[in-house]
Amino acid sequence: MTDEKKRDITTKLVHGGERRPLPDARPVSTPIYASATFTYESMQEIDQVFGGEKQGFIYTRYGNPTIAALEEAVRETEEGAFACAYATGMAAIHAALIACDLKTGSTVLASQDLYGATTSLLNSVFASFGVKTVTADFSDLPAVREKAREIRPQVMIAETISNPLLKVCDIEACVEIARENGARLIIDNTFASPYLCQPLKLGADMVVHSATKYLGGHADAMGGLVVSRDEMDSVGLVGVMKLVGGVLGVWEAHEILRGLKTLALRMDRQCENARCLAKHLRDHPQVARVHFPEFAGEGKAELARRMLRAPHAGALVSIELKEGTREAAFRFMDALKLCVRSTSLGDVFTSVLHPATASHRDLTPGRRQELGIVDGLVRISVGIESIDDVIADIEQALSV
Ligand code: PLP
Repeated sequence: MTDEKKRDITTKLVHGGERRPLPDARPVSTPIYASATFTYESMQEIDQVFGGEKQGFIYTRYGNPTIAALEEAVRETEEGAFACAYATGMAAIHAALIACDLKTGSTVLASQDLYGATTSLLNSVFASFGVKTVTADFSDLPAVREKAREIRPQVMIAETISNPLLKVCDIEACVEIARENGARLIIDNTFASPYLCQPLKLGADMVVHSATKYLGGHADAMGGLVVSRDEMDSVGLVGVMKLVGGVLGVWEAHEILRGLKTLALRMDRQCENARCLAKHLRDHPQVARVHFPEFAGEGKAELARRMLRAPHAGALVSIELKEGTREAAFRFMDALKLCVRSTSLGDVFTSVLHPATASHRDLTPGRRQELGIVDGLVRISVGIESIDDVIADIEQALSV
């Protein structure tokens, strides 16, 4: 009797079918490697992989083939030297900031229009370790330059397209200011995606993504990525991944990798749809103002053309209702039958969000007013549906 036959059924149930050598054929899509650990023929090999002398996977918190495939795909599309994936966009932003070696006494110059949780991360977690954050209006470059000269930040951080007023960042100018002051520039490229903008090619040091948005694109997976221009950042980025442990799940990595394959197709359609909707709403009697990079005035529209892949201006449109109250915004949003009330963006379906009570809820009403996040503002993330159907839904909801 072979060893295998002698084994008890309880053992067979545990080991049956596992760890079979792979056939010579290669799968055409990366499988989901749902394995927490990896084994080798000998302890010597395990020792070599641990020691970095031999390439391989050892423990999924240190790396996994499914996650590695996603990291490689995003690194290529952002044209960076190194990419690292995390459980969420926030975990990625945290890792990027840590990898910039922020410590007690360091200063960060942040865009005043950053995603609310990023501002809170800086003002709570990083502040508690003695990192000071100063904000500036990154659409006012002389003010940013003056602030940078005054505070000599170690890190500058901004978003390619800001939320929810959709101001496009002049990344090249920010790179110049960062270099003049010895700062590292982190760009959150979530709203543009690498299809519309590649900040590393413009000179930024690191790009971060909430992959939960356009990269995944289907509202079924959360994830985040950091891509760096400098291979040296791999030490800090991998260190946070291993030690803080906010690693991306393998199932999510697979969903996001699948989403990436259609990013260009989705973005082309979503951006086209967004332009169509923005144009339609521009002269609407119930709409006081439409925020869309193309309508931001000549200088700003030219900047959008320079930063983003022509002819696109992004796939988000924010509108201010004429009746500028929270009640009017809620009435409009409640009346939508097709567009989804959702706290995210970048999905294949059109979704709406009320910034004053969602992304910017934690700000005081006064601060919201200062930033232009008024109660009647609604952010629309335009999907891939027929734009006629989306417009018809928005029209009927505006008339309620
Ligand atoms: N960056 C931007 C611009 C975002 O809009 C978000 C979330 O909405 C994040 C980062 C955080 O991403 P996640 O929710 O995946 O942590």
